[in-house]
Amino acid sequence: MAKTVIKNIGTLISGDFSNPLLEGDTLVIENGRILQTGYWKDCQTEGAQKVIDAKGSTVAPGLIDSHVHPVFGDFTPRQRTVDFIDSELHGGVTTMISAGEVHLPGRPKDIVGVKALAIVAVRSFKNLRPSGVKVHAGAPILELGMVEEDFAEMAQAGVKLIGEIGLGSVKEGKDAAPMVRWAKKYGMTVTIHTGGPSIAGSNAINADTVMEASPHIVGHINGGHTSMLLKDIEKLVTQTDMALEIVHCGNIKAALHTLTTARETGNLHRIIIGNDAPSGTGVIPLGILRVLSFLSSFEEVAPEQIFAMATGNTARVHNLPVGFIKPGYEADLIIIDAPIGSAGKDALSALKAGDLPGISMVLIDGEIKVQKSRNTPPAARMAEVS
Ligand SMILES: [Zn+2]
Repeated sequence: MAKTVIKNIGTLISGDFSNPLLEGDTLVIENGRILQTGYWKDCQTEGAQKVIDAKGSTVAPGLIDSHVHPVFGDFTPRQRTVDFIDSELHGGVTTMISAGEVHLPGRPKDIVGVKALAIVAVRSFKNLRPSGVKVHAGAPILELGMVEEDFAEMAQAGVKLIGEIGLGSVKEGKDAAPMVRWAKKYGMTVTIHTGGPSIAGSNAINADTVMEASPHIVGHINGGHTSMLLKDIEKLVTQTDMALEIVHCGNIKAALHTLTTARETGNLHRIIIGNDAPSGTGVIPLGILRVLSFLSSFEEVAPEQIFAMATGNTARVHNLPVGFIKPGYEADLIIIDAPIGSAGKDALSALKAGDLPGISMVLIDGEIKVQKSRNTPPAARMAEVS
């Protein structure tokens, strides 16, 4: 049995919004999964093949990017760029959720083509994890004329997501609603585009359309790039129980308004965080960390709770065995600290100060994938294999 131990942990972030910090200085991984956390003297550390010294820094679950637009492999035709997934891994992202493979050149809009693309995307990312990152893709864009059989057929072939409603010919609540019901019936998780059009062909979608369609996730509630009216955001926060997605490539004023409204009404546990890259805004390797930093520094919400919005909250929406530091969960972890020169003394106080933490290690399924991020500033204390 492969065992790895992380010792000398200063802060342990759980990913669980309701209990965001854990007691202890040690984390034990066995066969790629978290076995236990706690204090060194109480943990089953004997027989470890590998011991990682966190040097007093912070360990958190690997980040989940709830809104990515992959196509195939680690290439984005939208920005003619390779290795954008590897670059996000160096920003702490270990799981990505596709919001639609919309950047495929010549993307088919006919129903057979839509289904075929979704099925190929699911299978291609099942067979290939770029740099180890778990990419959940195969998120078809709904087109008029789809019938219940189409959803049954896709589900049978492994499709678990519906990409942003509104990027195809289904743009109105009344057209989306029956399809969303079929998607839910076959176990798919559904997201919708909101706000103004982001790329040619998409549409303005407001709160009433979202409520009529009734998806699981309000996609980029802060717009991609143009936000809904702030009163529409308030309506979705207070009158629905959908997941509320804040993205990097959106409107920052609307993101903060969402956070404030959710805080005031007890709905912070519904917020999830995405990058919405690659997109017209670009390839943003540190997008998720940057949202953590904006939200932590502008609002009176604890940074460890903001962390849950990019880990456990998202894992819950998609029912994934990641995003939490909890026995039995997949050992996708990041080791982070305040960057050199920060006003913060550790990762959480650096976020509160508006800085980006430095990443000194990323593990996926208990395996070290990154030692010293090539994209973040250097961490003040660097984890080392001892
Ligand atoms: Zn969108």
